[in-house]
Amino acid sequence: MRWSEAFIPTLRDDPADAEAVSHKLLVRAGYARQLMSGVYSLLPLGQRVTQKITAIIRHEMNEIGGQEFKLPSMHPREVWERSGRWDSVGAEMFRLEDRRGAGIALGMTHEEIFTLVAAELRSYKQLPQVFYQFQSKFRDEARPKSGLLRVREFTMKDSYSFDIDDAGLDASFQRHFEAYRKIFNRLGFDAIAVEASSGAMGGDTSIEFMLASEAGEDWIASCPACGYAANVEKAVSKLAPVADADGLEKPSKFATPGVRTIEDLASFRSDECPDGAAADRQIKTLVYRIDDNDVLLLLRGCDTLSEQKLMDSVEAQAMRPATAEEIRSALGASPGSLGAVGVGDLYVIADEALRGRRDMVTGANDDDFHLRGVDVERDIDVKAWLDLREVEEGEGCPMCERPLAVLKTIEVGHIFKLGTRYSEPLEANVLDQNGATRPIVMGCYGIGVERNMAAIVEAHHDDAGIVWPMNVAPFEVVISVLKPKDVDCREAGERLYEAVAAGGIDVLLDDRDERPGVKFKDADLIGIPYRVTVGPKGLAEGVVELKSRRSNEARDLKIQHAAETVIEAVLDERR
Ligand SMILES: [Zn+2]
Repeated sequence: MRWSEAFIPTLRDDPADAEAVSHKLLVRAGYARQLMSGVYSLLPLGQRVTQKITAIIRHEMNEIGGQEFKLPSMHPREVWERSGRWDSVGAEMFRLEDRRGAGIALGMTHEEIFTLVAAELRSYKQLPQVFYQFQSKFRDEARPKSGLLRVREFTMKDSYSFDIDDAGLDASFQRHFEAYRKIFNRLGFDAIAVEASSGAMGGDTSIEFMLASEAGEDWIASCPACGYAANVEKAVSKLAPVADADGLEKPSKFATPGVRTIEDLASFRSDECPDGAAADRQIKTLVYRIDDNDVLLLLRGCDTLSEQKLMDSVEAQAMRPATAEEIRSALGASPGSLGAVGVGDLYVIADEALRGRRDMVTGANDDDFHLRGVDVERDIDVKAWLDLREVEEGEGCPMCERPLAVLKTIEVGHIFKLGTRYSEPLEANVLDQNGATRPIVMGCYGIGVERNMAAIVEAHHDDAGIVWPMNVAPFEVVISVLKPKDVDCREAGERLYEAVAAGGIDVLLDDRDERPGVKFKDADLIGIPYRVTVGPKGLAEGVVELKSRRSNEARDLKIQHAAETVIEAVLDERR
C-alpha cells in the first residue's frame, strides 16, 4: 500500500470528549470515527487491525474443534420469550417491530439462537460440539463511553459448547480457558483470569479475563501472594476478628440532632455518646424494593453494598433502592435515621461482617435519634445472612490472608458455564447412553473484537502514539522515502518496498510529498513496529536506516541486504 493513495486521516488534536488513551489515539491516528454515541465506524487501518485480531481468535477456536457459523442479528421476540429473557433483560436490548407488528430483538448475545440450532442434535454420540461466530452485537448501554471500550454496536466472537453432562462441560470450559490464554498472549497482553458474576447470562460459574488499566470500568481484587483473583462483584475477603465491648443490656435511644450520614455520626459527640461511633461500629441500613417487597439490608457503616452480589444471591425479577417516600411509609423515618431494631415483619438481610457484633450504633427510625448498645444477633431479627459487601484494598485474601490489591481493569473476555439454562426451555435434548432424553449441557464464551483492539492500545502506547505488537499491527513496516522527488531515492524506496512485500510482509510505502518530520510523526502515531528510512545521504553510502518503534533503536542496513533483514526482523516477532 502506498501512503499517497491510502485513506489514513490523522488528526492534530485529540477528540474533545475523549478520556481514555485508546479513544484519543484510535481517533487521532485514523483508525475509527464516532457516528453517534457508542457507535463507531472503523476506517481501513482499524479494519486491518480487527481482521488480524479476528484471524488469531479464529485460529485458536479452530484448534479446539470450533465450527464457524453466522447467525442473524434480528431475532424473533418469541424465542427470547421462551428463554424468559424478553422480560428479564430490560432496556439494554434494542427492540423493534416489523411492518406487521411482530416483535424483533437486535441480538445482544446468541444463546437462544445457537440453542435452537443445537436442537437438531439427536444423540450423545454427536457430542461434544463447539459452535462459534463473529457477529455484530447490539447493547443499549446507559452510559456508552471510553471510545471503543464500551459501545452499543460491536463485533463479538461468541462460542457455545454442547456436552452430554457436567464432566463434558468442565472439559469444554477448560479447553476454552486455555484457548483464551493463548489468544490474549498473541494479542500482546497478560490477561488476569478472575472469578466473576454470571449476571444476565445465568449459570453458576464464570471467569472473566481482565487487563489492568486505568481506562477500565471493572474492579477486581487480586492477591499478589497466592494468585487469588475475583471481580469485586464476586470477591470475598477475610476480616480481622473484632473484640467489641459487651455494651448495654438493651439498645438505648439517644438524640443525634442533624446527623444524616455515617461520617456525621462518626464525628458526633454528646454526653451519651462521648466518643462518637467509628464507621465500623455503625450499622448502615438500606431499603430495597425487591419484587414489590421492602427489604432492609444491613452492612457495617464502613462497607459498600455490592448490588451484583445481592442480585446473585436473591432470586428476584426486579430490584431497586426504595424511594424516600417508600422508606418513610415503611419505617416512618428518613434515610440517615434508619435501623432494623424492632421492625416487625420487615424482611432483614444482614451482611456476614455483622455476625456476632455487639455494642453497635444504628438509626432509631425516628429522625435525629439513634440507638446505641445494639447486639446484632440479640436485637435484630435477621432473616438471612449474606455476603453483600464490596471487598476493599488491603483486606485479607480469603485463601492466604495476605493483603488484597484492588485494581481497575478492562474485561477482555468472559466464559460461562450455562448448564441447561437455555437447553431446557428451548428443548435442545439428546438421547444419552441409556436411550433417555436429556437436555444438552452448555457453555458460552465471548470476546469483543473492537474492545480488544482498544485494550491493546491501552497496553501499548507512548507519548508519540500507538506501539502495536507485531501480530496485530495494521502494517508491519513503513518505508519512509525522504525525498520522493529525487529519482534515486524514490526508486530505491520502490525496490525495497517490492522486495519486502514479496516476502509476505504488510508494508506501507510513505511516498507522500511531505517533510521528513511529518512522515516520522505520522508513522509513530499510527504505531507501525518498524520504520525503514530511505534518504539521499544514506544512499550515497549504500545504506538505509531500520528503526524499531518500541525500542527506538536504529541501525544502518546495507541496501543490498536490507529487504532480507527487514523480513527476518518481522517474522521473528510474529507469534
Ligand atoms: Zn492470597
